[in-house]
Amino acid sequence: MEIIINILKINKIGGNGMHPKIDYDKCVGSLECYDVCPADVFDEEETEDGKRAKVARPDDCTECEQCVDSCPTDAIELVD
Ligand code: SF4
Repeated sequence: MEIIINILKINKIGGNGMHPKIDYDKCVGSLECYDVCPADVFDEEETEDGKRAKVARPDDCTECEQCVDSCPTDAIELVD
């Protein structure tokens, strides 16, 4: 999978500069986005309320929208 993602990045296929933005007013820390992202865009971070995802490598996003679709509270959108 990683090789395929790197080929897509090198050839700039599948991405157009969009990346995910997390609305922390909606996020419940399910980490679904962290688990589902094939490009390893998210990291986990600790907060007072427990773990949550953060966007760590936005430039690696391929705009597949799996994080958007997997989020149980619609807390993620892709932005420029
Ligand atoms: S759109 Fe796809 S590649 Fe981009 S952060 Fe979401 S799951 Fe990862």
